[in-house]
Amino acid sequence: MTQTADAIVIGTGIIGAAVAYELALTGLRVISVDRLGDVGSGSTSSSSSVVRFHYSTFEGVAASWEAKFGWETWRDYLGAPAEQTLARLLRVGCLILDGSTERERVLPLFEQVGIPYQCWDAETIRQQVPGLDPGRYGPPKPVTDDAFWADADGELGAYFTPDGGFIDDPQLAARNLMAAAMQRGAGVWLHDEVVAILEKKARVQGIRLRSGSVIQSPIVVNAAGPYSHQVNVLAGVTGEFRIRTRPLRQEVHSVPAPAGYARGEMGPAVMDGDLGTYFRSHLGGQLIVGGAEPACDTLQWIDDPDFFEPQPTRPVWEAQVLRLARRIPSLGIPPRPVGFGALYDVADDWIPIYDRTSLAGFYVAIGTSGNQFKNAPVVGRFMATLIEACENGHDHDSDPVVFHGRFTKNAINLGHYSRLRQAHPESVYGVMG
Ligand SMILES: Cc1cc2nc3c(=O)[nH]c(=O)nc-3n(C[C@H](O)[C@H](O)[C@H](O)COP(=O)(O)OP(=O)(O)OC[C@H]3O[C@@H](n4cnc5c(N)ncnc54)[C@H](O)[C@@H]3O)c2cc1C
Repeated sequence: MTQTADAIVIGTGIIGAAVAYELALTGLRVISVDRLGDVGSGSTSSSSSVVRFHYSTFEGVAASWEAKFGWETWRDYLGAPAEQTLARLLRVGCLILDGSTERERVLPLFEQVGIPYQCWDAETIRQQVPGLDPGRYGPPKPVTDDAFWADADGELGAYFTPDGGFIDDPQLAARNLMAAAMQRGAGVWLHDEVVAILEKKARVQGIRLRSGSVIQSPIVVNAAGPYSHQVNVLAGVTGEFRIRTRPLRQEVHSVPAPAGYARGEMGPAVMDGDLGTYFRSHLGGQLIVGGAEPACDTLQWIDDPDFFEPQPTRPVWEAQVLRLARRIPSLGIPPRPVGFGALYDVADDWIPIYDRTSLAGFYVAIGTSGNQFKNAPVVGRFMATLIEACENGHDHDSDPVVFHGRFTKNAINLGHYSRLRQAHPESVYGVMG
């Protein structure tokens, strides 16, 4: 079968769905394709979906703040009818403990972007989040190291952003975006894999799928998540990328929240660089905990995203849950691991690549590095803005497109996300971006 479209988006995760929606809004006939059987069922479905604003660069902070308004106005943004079930932003706040990021770097960026925050001392942390121990245990250590069990060496402060929180159902958010795209004429092909990117005279012509079907289109967007490098290989563009993308295995574990933690309510999302985790409350009285890539842990890089362990492993579970138990001393340790393994698509400097390529019409929204779920409402618009400019002859490589936030009016230079950049030295080279 041969079909035509104005634009193809490879991947129906939160990023691909956001790009499909924004391109459909511009009037393009979009077809989204995914090798899996359901929209948003790749790495997006495993996301901790924390909404926070502390990044190491102006662009990172400004993008996450702009995106927050998209989540707050989600129904209007999607044009969704009142009866449609939508993902929700639960505004529980975000607490960034000392040791997570450099305050001296982040707080001036908050001031510049206009993000409200409060500085908390240890006593305020105790009062605001009962059950949370503000003891200083860092730098992070392996739990097999006797030093891990040493008493606290002083106390931590923190900063708190009341507007942070999390999205209650990340896969539903992707489905919401795709439903909105379909309302505007987009098509979705599931259960089929892109096996070739078609090109002629240095211009993309479309894709071929494993089923043998061909979709012809002058625009193809790689939003393949942890498969991003493989899709770039199909397009023959990897040689020009100064920043690589690679799959990284991560685990997230679930533990019952102890009675009385955060007064029995949903506590804030907590970034605990002092012990090397992040955690947040989850529905059903649970806490989920993930890793913040402390230097003492070995990163699990994956060669082929089709082959990784999706079950939680005891060593990683012990590390994350025992670190959480130091921070919340009343935590009960379950008898066995509960959680999962999933993949980040990590860029060399942990900052995504939203860009064109030298294959005209072939674009990338990749390298989301475990920290771009929250940005989906703005990433779709980044890509639509970039694609429109490039398709109208703008040379984004030499004269980067500047994006203006609809809500915040902040100007974000999209050259920040270039495939041709030198690795950003300000990055923390971890999930905080
Ligand atoms: C455990 C975990 C926790 C996270 N926590 C947070 C968080 O708290 N906050 C935050 O902001 N971000 C977080 N992230 C990051 C965020 O979830 C991801 O950046 C985002 O979901 C990536 O979306 P995506 O659409 O790029 O990728 P995916 O959701 O993986 O979608 C890519 C899709 O492309 C499809 N595909 C790939 N190759 C092909 C092909 N050849 N043909 C057809 N289809 C193909 C795949 O099947 C897949 O469905 C987390 C990620 C993980 C894994």
